Amino acid sequence: MKRGLLIILSGPSGVGKGTVREHFMKDDSLNLTYSISMTTRKPRTGEIDGKDYIFAEKEAFEQAIKDGELLEWAEFVGNYYGTPLNQVEKLRDQGKNVVLEIEVQGAQQVAKKVPDGISIFMIPPTMEELENRIRGRQTEAEEIIQQRLAKAEKEMTLIKDYKYVVCNDDPELAAQYIGLIIKRHMKD
Ligand code: 5GP
Repeated sequence: MKRGLLIILSGPSGVGKGTVREHFMKDDSLNLTYSISMTTRKPRTGEIDGKDYIFAEKEAFEQAIKDGELLEWAEFVGNYYGTPLNQVEKLRDQGKNVVLEIEVQGAQQVAKKVPDGISIFMIPPTMEELENRIRGRQTEAEEIIQQRLAKAEKEMTLIKDYKYVVCNDDPELAAQYIGLIIKRHMKD
């Protein structure tokens, strides 16, 4: 059986990675599965442990780092986020194309460890639009919003390290475009 692809979807917080991912994951012909991350962030209303994230205490996360259980991890605005390595390997071995939806520091680690990974950087149409989207979520305090925006400015400079750049002006179109990218690689 052909080993599955690794697709790394990254870009600033608030750009709409989750929404676009939901769209392109509906296409069964892409044979996709999502890697559920571990985080020390507290669940937002409606988020489910084991589905949206594996929610963990700081100590458990640090132990996972020490034990080499994470493919990548990063600290993002006061919390840890990371990708469990086992899960990704198992799914790829089963022939599934695995999607990681991660921030840029983590994406850089994956690029080094998995050179044949398909890295996609998602950008907002404008930085004003990014601010509107982060504010529109109404889930974060002003201080955190400011931190996420400042971080986004820096993150945008890493665009050159990715194989593909997709602008999220319209989530459905962005998803279609990403679907085409994946299909192209499935033929290799
Ligand atoms: P949020 O708190 O909004 O769910 O996520 C904050 C940022 O962390 C987002 O950019 C999200 O894509 C990223 N993120 C989610 N899971 C992971 C992960 O496993 N590793 C890394 N490096 N970033 C992640």
